This record gives sequence, C-alpha cells and structure tokens, in this order.
Amino acid sequence: MRLYIKKCHYCHRRIYLNITASTRSELAKKIGRCFEVECPHCHRTSEYCVDEVYAEMGQSSVPAGVILGGLVGLLGGPLGVLIGGAIGSVIGAGVDEEEKRRVQRFNWGED
Ligand SMILES: [Zn+2]
Repeated sequence: MRLYIKKCHYCHRRIYLNITASTRSELAKKIGRCFEVECPHCHRTSEYCVDEVYAEMGQSSVPAGVILGGLVGLLGGPLGVLIGGAIGSVIGAGVDEEEKRRVQRFNWGED
C-alpha cells in the first residue's frame, strides 16, 4: 500500500509519501494533522493535511507468488512447479485482497 497526497497545491500532480500508516489518525500521530511537503515535480513546499492523503494498492503479489511457488515446486519436478505456481497465485491473490481492504479502510475509514 502506498500513500499519496491527492494533488500538489501548485502543479496538481500526485505526491507519493515515503511513510506508511494504516489509517489517517495513525498518520496524524506520526507526522501531525498538517505537515509541510516539498513537491517532487515542481519543488514547491506547501502545507498539506492528512485528509488530503489517500492510499492505493502497491504492486500485485500474484506474480511474485507464482514465481515463489514455482521455485519451491521445482523440488517436486514439473508437476511440482505447476502445483507450486498455482498455490503461489492463490496466496498472492489473498495478499492482494488483504491489501485492497487496507486501502479501502484508509480511504473510507471512520477518521
Ligand atoms: Zn507540484
């Protein structure tokens, strides 16, 4: 999960934050309700508040799961690779599902 400021006050582009938090209140505890950030696009500093911060999903875990499962399956021969890959994709999809829930919780959570 990645956090970003919806848009820079000047150039209106997204600013990705180098910080993790599962809710806006957790984020506020870490860096304060409002904080200054320099935009990496236009290099202008402005004050943003946590309600301008949104979450989005990071990279999908499915391909990594397939590769990892396939590698483990190598020990069991060609069939092992198939089974391992299939199991890996299921685990990866589960991780993605979990991630989706975390993103939704951040974006539409009670705070
Ligand atoms: Zn900007």
